[in-house]
Amino acid sequence: MSKLFLSGTVEAVEDVTARMRRIRLAGVPDLRWTPGQHVRVRVGTLTLRTYSIWDYDGHLDLCVLDHDTGGPGARWAREAMPGQRVSFTRPEGRLVPREDAPYHVFVGDATASVPFGAMLRALPESVPVHCVIEAEDRLPMPREVIWTDNLLDTLRALDLPSEPGIAYVAGEARACQSARAHLVRDRGWPRRSVAIKPFWTPGKRGMD
Ligand SMILES: Cc1cc2nc3c(=O)[nH]c(=O)nc-3n(C[C@H](O)[C@H](O)[C@H](O)COP(=O)(O)OP(=O)(O)OC[C@H]3O[C@@H](n4cnc5c(N)ncnc54)[C@H](O)[C@@H]3O)c2cc1C
Repeated sequence: MSKLFLSGTVEAVEDVTARMRRIRLAGVPDLRWTPGQHVRVRVGTLTLRTYSIWDYDGHLDLCVLDHDTGGPGARWAREAMPGQRVSFTRPEGRLVPREDAPYHVFVGDATASVPFGAMLRALPESVPVHCVIEAEDRLPMPREVIWTDNLLDTLRALDLPSEPGIAYVAGEARACQSARAHLVRDRGWPRRSVAIKPFWTPGKRGMD
């Protein structure tokens, strides 16, 4: 049976934005993953936090936001240093690109931009995408992104084809619900066309 935890060694740590750190783990061979998936990282003796895979090429890259009310996950990222060992679970999760869609819509915040970057890289350039992200911390994204300070208003104003595509909605829980409600109620999309994954919510620790 496969081991529950894998491990790697921090090789590099880089501030990619003011509050977003990229943590590169070396010594992680043959990882099976689909862009959009996440791992659960041991950030303390008994504490796990979930982080999306930004990239994998034999090295595993995670990007962690040092948010204002930072808990153990944010602290782990702030204090990560080359040479440290890190344990984490195998990649999992269903927020992954669907192949049968005429176009793809990405809606989320800074934390969601991590899986979105990986998913956008995996989609052929010929596939139409619309990406709206509310974030001050802006990761370098592989396709055009509408950066906004009002996610819902920008999504409402987005010029989309009349037939539904597939939407990936992630980030703060209530913002995710509002975005899905807009697509389903106002635009008439079927619920199954909206893949939603709340990443965090005020007052709740370590969502998964
Ligand atoms: C599937 C999945 C993928 C995720 N991928 C990423 C990722 O790639 N990068 C990443 O940075 N995070 C990601 N997250 C969120 C991450 O797992 C943690 O929730 C986050 O790092 C907070 O952990 P913490 O220990 O610092 O704070 P916690 O102890 O979990 O929470 C303390 C408090 O901080 C506040 N808080 C938590 N997150 C935020 C935030 N983003 N902004 C403002 N306030 C916040 C809340 O009020 C919370 O009650 C993901 C979550 C899930 C479920």
